[in-house]
Amino acid sequence: MSMPKTPTSTPPKTLADWRAKAEALSFESRAFIDDGFVDALSGDTFESINPANGQCLAKVASCDDADAERAVRHARAAFERGEWSRLAPGSRKRILLRLADLLEQHKHELALIDTLDMGKPIGSALGDMAGTIACLRYNAESIDKVFGEVAPTGEESLGLVLREPLGVVASIVPWNFPMMMTAWKIAPALAAGNSVILKPSEKSPLSALRLAQLAQDAGIPRGVFQVLPGFGHTVGKALALSMEVNCLAFTGSTQVGKQLMQYAGQSNLKRVYLECGGKSPNIVFADCKDLDAVAANAAEAIFHNQGEVCIAGSRLLVENSIREDFVTRVLKAAEAMQPGDPLDPDSFMGAIVDETQHKRILDFIRQGVEEGALLRGGGQALETCPGGLFIAPTVFDGVTPEMSIGREEIFGPVLAVFGFDTEEEAIQLANDSQYGLAAGLWSQDIDRIMRVTRRLESGQVFVNNWAGGDQTVPFGGVKQSGNGRDKSMHSLAEYSELKTVWFSLRP
Ligand code: NAD
Repeated sequence: MSMPKTPTSTPPKTLADWRAKAEALSFESRAFIDDGFVDALSGDTFESINPANGQCLAKVASCDDADAERAVRHARAAFERGEWSRLAPGSRKRILLRLADLLEQHKHELALIDTLDMGKPIGSALGDMAGTIACLRYNAESIDKVFGEVAPTGEESLGLVLREPLGVVASIVPWNFPMMMTAWKIAPALAAGNSVILKPSEKSPLSALRLAQLAQDAGIPRGVFQVLPGFGHTVGKALALSMEVNCLAFTGSTQVGKQLMQYAGQSNLKRVYLECGGKSPNIVFADCKDLDAVAANAAEAIFHNQGEVCIAGSRLLVENSIREDFVTRVLKAAEAMQPGDPLDPDSFMGAIVDETQHKRILDFIRQGVEEGALLRGGGQALETCPGGLFIAPTVFDGVTPEMSIGREEIFGPVLAVFGFDTEEEAIQLANDSQYGLAAGLWSQDIDRIMRVTRRLESGQVFVNNWAGGDQTVPFGGVKQSGNGRDKSMHSLAEYSELKTVWFSLRP
């Protein structure tokens, strides 16, 4: 652990500022259980590595079944005590708004932690913090505006429908947007009055541990918000199999999502909300306006966050009459999106999260070439920073649905371009996937837009944009992209039970 040297109060702006801030940073690396930081009971740790230079940032507590059992016990006890679960919603709101204010105060530090921990560019990490804070404020502000129901009965009865918290919620999250994915889960779960145990990814555990301290500072009572760093097959599995956890709120791969449903079936039928993978189609019709702007947007849709995005626009479907011209424009846009030092505010892409993911992406690129797709740009690892893991923005044309790069979620900066001639062919290609997380549609023809939108098998459709939306609309998928919805009032509703109360009255 390095200790602070030169604390600065002015917000960092340049690469040098961010480097200085990184030098001065210290990391909490212990689990947060009940009301404080503790080592894992086993004493085991794992290394958190900065993928931009290969350096170890911290040795983090590696929690397992015993720690999970301990945290679940404290979460349940807190729920029973009722200091949070039975607190008036308006009071929970005030505490969560205080937490949002603390996140605002510490947003540079939290963004920096995520950048160092998983390699995303600092500008993008700051963008995540804006989303994180907005999510917390939205749920805090909403919770004292949610009403129960009075059923339409005759005079002899009174039917009430009450909303009650679920109990203990375990949130298991990935590494690609560490803070934001966390907020999407914990903000509605906490607002609804649950006790929450967060298991961050083993690839990006550090910001969650800083968050635990800020949550305590904001006044969240003991046992209500705990953080267990560690691996999926140990502490994650223990939470998923626990008889005392009432809900699993998961974001991650489809493969692990399927396992979690099995664990719920093997244990206590806990609720399982899944936000899983994608292979999202971005459909460009020849009638769309301003091809340069659309091409830049299509490049950003795949290369943002190094392609490590669940809703990456990884399948670009282009009408054949403009395909060659359009791909040339995408390649030009991609040129300006080369990876840079993640601490440089001007970098568009950063480092790939770890060696496993780096190798997996390069393997897919190799397979794409072997399967006969046309490599039009990128395709190689880059030595952007010494000791770091970087990959050039990569574009394949002439991809078909049988090719692995056309079907599998690569989770890296690799774009697969398909051609189509008719609207029907575009719809068939778009829906030919196990996933259904997001889809994009570029056209000026409103009739076509609505025809195609209705037929796309997707939880969200972006028309003449990619990844638009704010806190007011739900985010989630269909098919094997999962069954949950983050953001919006729909997400808040997922974290409460309905209780029916029926009174017999004397008329
Ligand atoms: P992952 O499934 O490998 O891991 C996600 C989390 O699950 C991690 O915390 C991990 O430790 C835990 N885990 C792994 N095995 C487990 C087990 N057996 N029991 C309990 N927990 C277990 O996914 P990842 O590599 O961290 O993230 C990338 C994936 O996340 C991609 O597929 C991406 O599409 C998806 N994702 C989806 C969304 C969405 O909103 N739909 C958002 C971001 C990422």
